[in-house]
Amino acid sequence: MNVHSHDHGDGHHTHDLSEGEVRARALESLLREKGVLQGPIIDEIIDMYTNDIGPMNGAKAVAKAWVDPEYKQRLLANATEAVRELGFSGMEGENLRAVENTDKQHHVIVCTLCSCYPWPVLGLPPRWYKDTPYRSRVVREPRKVLAEFGTTIGDEVDVKVLDSNVEVRYFVLPKRPAGSEGLSEDELAKLVTRDSMVGVTVLAPVSKAAA
Ligand code: FE
Repeated sequence: MNVHSHDHGDGHHTHDLSEGEVRARALESLLREKGVLQGPIIDEIIDMYTNDIGPMNGAKAVAKAWVDPEYKQRLLANATEAVRELGFSGMEGENLRAVENTDKQHHVIVCTLCSCYPWPVLGLPPRWYKDTPYRSRVVREPRKVLAEFGTTIGDEVDVKVLDSNVEVRYFVLPKRPAGSEGLSEDELAKLVTRDSMVGVTVLAPVSKAAA
């Protein structure tokens, strides 16, 4: 635990509910009681932000970096500024750092102590990112955890685990998939997944039929 501990500064990492969380839960209960909210609507909205809307920001930055070498340089030099160019900024995005996955180096992101995550580019963190098994195991046995995500990284590729915290929040610039040469920036953005920007997956080659 000590090896990977990092300074988390303020109190937003407490496992007690914050005032905001308490208020959100109170509101949800009240709306359910009054019949305004029914079924899993809240979960569906959270899911949308977790899987679709949030990560699309990051996907746009990734696609732009693939087609524009100068943008890629800016992204790797100062991700906070580079994503601001695309209109993405805000909470939990003050010190974003983009790291590039290559044929020699694979990065995977974690917050070992809690759930620090680059909100402006990836939206809300998925449940597994916040859970203890991922946080503790990915540091000890990254290749094994990656395999559980269906990801095999060759022995010739170094795997580096980066620990996000309040000072710096990492996200991954995944390798551009094979077969994507003819695609436009918009088409490329649609290929980029949240998990590839956390580094737990790599992007599948684009089949000739789909391209
Ligand atoms: Fe954290």
